[in-house]
This record gives sequence, C-alpha cells and structure tokens, in this order.
Amino acid sequence: MRNSILIALISISVGGLIGAKVMESFGRNYIMANLPVPSGTLNDKDVFLKSIPANSELVKKDLVEVNKKAKNVILLIGDGMSASQITSYRLLKKGPNGRIAMDRFPISGIVLTHSADAIITDSASSATAYSTGSKTKNSYLGVDKDGQILENLTEKLDDFGFISALISTSEVTHATPAAFSSHVDSRRDTDEISSQMLESKVATILGGGRNFFLPPEKGGKRKDKRNLLEEAKKSHKILTHKNQLVISNINPSEKILGLFADEHLRDEGTPDNHPSEPTLTEMLKFSLERAKAAIDNQCRGSFIMVEGSQVDWAGHANNIDYLERELGEFDEATRYALDYAKNNQNTLVVVTADHETGGLLIEPIALSYYTGNNIKFSFNTAIGGGSHTGAPVPVYAYGPGSMNFSGTLDNTDVHHAILNALDLTEQTGSCL
Ligand SMILES: [Zn+2]
Repeated sequence: MRNSILIALISISVGGLIGAKVMESFGRNYIMANLPVPSGTLNDKDVFLKSIPANSELVKKDLVEVNKKAKNVILLIGDGMSASQITSYRLLKKGPNGRIAMDRFPISGIVLTHSADAIITDSASSATAYSTGSKTKNSYLGVDKDGQILENLTEKLDDFGFISALISTSEVTHATPAAFSSHVDSRRDTDEISSQMLESKVATILGGGRNFFLPPEKGGKRKDKRNLLEEAKKSHKILTHKNQLVISNINPSEKILGLFADEHLRDEGTPDNHPSEPTLTEMLKFSLERAKAAIDNQCRGSFIMVEGSQVDWAGHANNIDYLERELGEFDEATRYALDYAKNNQNTLVVVTADHETGGLLIEPIALSYYTGNNIKFSFNTAIGGGSHTGAPVPVYAYGPGSMNFSGTLDNTDVHHAILNALDLTEQTGSCL
C-alpha cells in the first residue's frame, strides 16, 4: 500500500512538473482506487449517541396578516420527502441544472418535524400537527398526547362552508389521510379509522384500500367483519375505476368514496388492476373540478390534501428507482396544482413532507472523489430497509398567504399558516 501511494504521489508530482494533466489524473485515480474502504454494516459507521436538552415551550411562528385571502388550499404532502429525496429526483430526471415543479415556487422554508414524545416523528403524529396545529405522540391521529380529540382542519373548515378532499396513493386509511378525518390513538386501528372517515366532514376521499372496508369473507381485512363498502353506499357515491372521475356524473351535494385498489395504488402484486387506478394528478384534477362546482353552488372555498404516500415506502425499502417513480408522480401533481393556482389567483398551494425516510445521501462514488457525473445514492438508516430520520423537511408555497411559509416553521405552524390564509370570519356551517 505504501508503495502504491508512493508511485501515485510520484505520478502526481511528475504530472504537475511537466504539466501533463493526463499523468496527474492517472495518479489521483490510482490513489482513489487503492484507498482502503472500511468494511462492515451501517452499525459500524461513525455514530454519536447524545442526550439533547429537554423540550421547553413550543415556539409559535409570528404570522404576517394576510389581506387578500385564499379561497382554495391545496396541501401536497410527500411522505418521507426531504431535500435529499427532492435533489435525487432532480438529478436523475433533469441533471444538476434542471428544475422540477417544486423548484418553481417563489417561497420556501424549513419545517421541523419532531412529535410530542420523540425527535423522530412518524406520519401519524406529523400529519396530526398539520391537521390540528397540535403536537401529539407517534401513532396518534387527530388526538392530543393525552388522547383527547382535537378539531381537525376538515372539521373546522366545514363549519366555515369549505368543501374538503383527501387524496392518497396508499390505502386511504393510512396515517396521513387518516389524520385529517379521524380521531384514534392508534394508526393501526384501521377498522375505526375507516368508520370515522365515512362519518367525517370530508366530501371526497380518493385512493386505495378496499380491503380495509370489507370483511374477510369478501376478501377484506376488517376485524369487526362489517361490510363498510356496502354500508357506505347509503352515504357515499362509490367509485372503483378512474374512468368514473367525471365531474358531470357527480351530484354536487353527494359524498364520494373512490377506492381504486384493494391496498395501495400501483401495487406490484396486482398489475392487472393498474389500468383502473388514477394518478395523483387525475385525482387532484377531479377534486379541483368538484371544488369549483361546489363553490359555484354554495360553498365558500375548498381544501384538498394530496399525499404522495409511497415516497416514504421507497425510503423504507432503500430503493432509489421506486423513489424516482413516486417523486415523479408527486412532482407532476405539484406542477398541476401550481399551474392551477397561477391561473386562479385565489388558490394557496403548499408543498411539504411529514419527515425524511431512509437517511438518503448523495455521495461521490469513491471517498473524496468529487469528479464527474457518476454519483452514489445511499440509504443510511439500515441495510436493506430503513427508518425515518429527524432531518427537517422543506416547504414550498405559492398564492395568497404564501409569505408565512418562509424561514423556519414548526410543523404545527403549517396548520396555523393555512388557516391564516383563509377568510374564516363567517361560521356559516356545512355547505354540503
Ligand atoms: Zn414511514
């Protein structure tokens, strides 16, 4: 090894002396190829276990008064998406100087994601912060850390005459949409979550998850044996195919439950079902048309939550190709939302995430070797399958009230900044 380095150093020196770039790069490459690389698992990496200061009072962000209020809010949540995920997608799709839809937002900030009982949040706690403006424990949905029910965004907005929609690529009973439509102290209680969703104020629910509405004898996964899909027909129009997302077929006052897959959308185990599954953009487009029809009818505004659910799953799976696919779908929906807001100057678009997943790094292909277009993507929470991290997430905003999404925000501030952007002076009651 010492001889190798000696030869390489001589190569560099000779290269430098005679100005022969080829020789110099030969020397550097030789060193890089022969550097000892530590072997072992991620558990052997350089780690530091520290105790951090105990939590003091939560600092609330001072919000600027919004004079021109928004009529519509589109909140896009890339589950498990932080700056590394966004950067990886940009690099893979467009190269270092390319720009994706998220890059086109004029306002951006940083969101801190810790939950009431942990520095590393889960999706339930973080979505509850967005939905209710309160920190709660991991796994809790729409309830505070003592299990008390918190009013969520869709309930509050319903009181003020706004119509709401929840969209996800996971089963709709998953943590993020569930935090906007249910109150339970365990995200795993999908029987209760789905029951509460149907009784919630949400007018449009779109995504996957038929199995969580059906009893085992119908192929479902309900422990209480209820056929909730059958029961839902009394209160909801049930959609099962993307071709049914046609606004002219919808009665403005009816609730809609669109379940387009047994579990999540684009499930690799059920390719035959994929042609009937809508994209996030198709579900968003439909929900915006629905909102417009409702506003033309008697509603005062709309709230739409769009979740790119499987960005997180790609992070858990340590799979960069899966991540690219999911971020592609999410960024396309983001582009649609932004274009809509640019054409309708009464719409606030907020794009953010609940936490980072996977500890994704963008690294040189060899240690300290920074040349060229070849890069290494690595997931750094575990080999084979990873976890969430405490990295903050970005937030992007456009439209009325967007200025409040700059700087450093707590995830609970996002909730308050959304409410701040809306005209909530007249408690008119539900518009449905
Ligand atoms: Zn996760």
